[in-house]
Amino acid sequence: MAGLIEKYRDRLPFEEGDPVISLDEGATPLLYACELSERLGCEAWLKIEGANPTGSFKDRGMTCAVSGAVRDGSTAVVCASTGNTAASAAAYSARARITCAVIVPDGKIARGKLAQAVMHGARVIGLRGNFDQALKLVRELSDNHPIALVNSVNPLRIEGQKTAAFEIIEALGPDRPLDALAIPVGNAGNITAYWKGFTESAGELETMPKMLGFQAAGAAPLVLGHAVAEPETLASAIRIGDPARGDQALSAIEQSGGAINSVTDEQILEAYRFLASHDGVFCEPSSAASVAGLIVHGVPEGVERVVCVLTGHGLKDPETALEVGGGIIACEPELAAVEAAVWG
Ligand SMILES: *Cc1c(COP(=O)(O)O)cnc(C)c1O
Repeated sequence: MAGLIEKYRDRLPFEEGDPVISLDEGATPLLYACELSERLGCEAWLKIEGANPTGSFKDRGMTCAVSGAVRDGSTAVVCASTGNTAASAAAYSARARITCAVIVPDGKIARGKLAQAVMHGARVIGLRGNFDQALKLVRELSDNHPIALVNSVNPLRIEGQKTAAFEIIEALGPDRPLDALAIPVGNAGNITAYWKGFTESAGELETMPKMLGFQAAGAAPLVLGHAVAEPETLASAIRIGDPARGDQALSAIEQSGGAINSVTDEQILEAYRFLASHDGVFCEPSSAASVAGLIVHGVPEGVERVVCVLTGHGLKDPETALEVGGGIIACEPELAAVEAAVWG
């Protein structure tokens, strides 16, 4: 049995016999983070979504969106993307043998994501504009042509992504209730999806987890209460000024008694390095916004157990890692030199 449609079919809008395009996504680790727990003063768990087939949570939504597109007879899909949606759409479209076009902000996406999209054979379009402009254009494109839109405005994306909430509940079990979920917020599809997953599981939960959303300070429309015309942050996956599911995100936050806050790029990078060097988990900068948010804004009163969603793998963005990580020690090929280099 492979993939989350097979596993959660009874809770997803797919019938027995519908086509399933899967790369065996989901079932990602939920890892206890010792060092982070100590620093936060509560139990901190990491939902490692970088362990999905293309290295981000987007695969959960994409297996559903592309399977749905194939079921409906589409022979092409399109998306606007800050990178990971493009990588995922490209991979699932290759698997489905359908055409994929991705529109990305030119020069503003991490190299690993671009490498994936081109390798999977997508038509990669570098837009001289930002994500918000790209999304507006693909919405118009799919209104006027028989091409399936696989951004998170597509309800099947939310359906697939809600399964991460099911997995967290299963992994923690009834004796370890989850008090809060910390998550980076860009276009706000993922926080919407988690809340849907938790809401659908309300019968298994004593209390609902607080949804703690975090945006980058330079791209924080939901914190500011208005769209940001020129969003700017090194966390390129959440460089979004006008989130498509902003209202739903805010209502999830309100219903759950959570909060939305922002973190600076510097705070994001500090959390990014801390996770990699202390808990052994390498995520991409945008993902570290969830951890930075807890470090900077503190864990809310009464929260004993929190899950941080690490949305994407660190290898997606090797350039940022090489810029902020430790340097490389040059060394002559002699034992004494190696000894000096190893022990400093
Ligand atoms: C897409 C993405 C996000 C933001 O998710 P939204 O659903 O747009 O809020 C965060 N982190 C990474 C790594 C992503 O790829």
